[in-house]
Amino acid sequence: TACLLHGKVALVTGASSGIGAAIGEHLAAAGAKVALAARRTDRLKDLEAQIARRGGTAVAITMDVCDERQVHDGVKLAESLLGPVDILVNSAGVLYYTLMKNVHVEEWHMMVDVNVKGVLNCVGTILGRMVEQRRGHIVNISSDGGRKGFPGLAVYCGTKFFVEGLSQAMRQEVAEFGVKITCIQPGDVKTELFQRTTDLEAQKKYEMVGKMKVLEPGDIAQAVLYAVTQPEVCAVNEILVEPQEAP
Ligand code: NDP
Repeated sequence: TACLLHGKVALVTGASSGIGAAIGEHLAAAGAKVALAARRTDRLKDLEAQIARRGGTAVAITMDVCDERQVHDGVKLAESLLGPVDILVNSAGVLYYTLMKNVHVEEWHMMVDVNVKGVLNCVGTILGRMVEQRRGHIVNISSDGGRKGFPGLAVYCGTKFFVEGLSQAMRQEVAEFGVKITCIQPGDVKTELFQRTTDLEAQKKYEMVGKMKVLEPGDIAQAVLYAVTQPEVCAVNEILVEPQEAP
């Protein structure tokens, strides 16, 4: 698979941990030059070095996806080092379990800022160029919570429904320019995502991780790799990946 993405440039947000880091590794292993974006530079540098040791090409790009200026500057830096972005993977995201009755406004806003506005900042910075070049692929890491509401995750699911609606509409606008939009919808994956919650009542009542089977980040990276390596005529619009239930 080392040459499947030869000559392609990918930018992956949320690449400092979990699913985004695994996607960065998989795309680099398939031959893409990868810009690894997140806030924690030390983590990005470690991954950059790890990819380089395996003969791949990656650069660490420090940026907060909530800050339009940082996204703009980060993308500019990535493109000056690697060339125009062919594949954008929006994996940066945050999750807080909250019960609506407990009114955790600050945590609601964090989820909207990263999961909604963060995606818009990245799409807004990169899509125009893709349309001009008449090629490109945007992969949004949505969630099974983008297809169905889960209790304890009302706002989180709301942000992922946004990602689904955005993707469905945008896909129809950009198809004529050869640009593809994919949503990956993971079920529970073993990452750091679940460590932020402060609403312990919500967490205790509804958190599933630890109670059921979970996926590995690499399982989701495989789905991304599948979506971005198909022939031009084949648009992989959605992939739902869930842990296999016990028989
Ligand atoms: P992690 O917590 O391991 O990774 C989240 C990533 O997002 C980190 O790299 C973090 O980097 C980055 N991030 C958070 N806030 C910002 C910000 N403001 N600016 C830039 N980067 C940011 O979780 P996962 O890997 O699990 O999550 C990745 C995506 O997968 C998310 O969109 C999540 O909603 C989705 N998902 C996860 C599931 C799971 O079960 N784990 C299931 C379904 C969907 P840093 O802090 O360095 O900025």
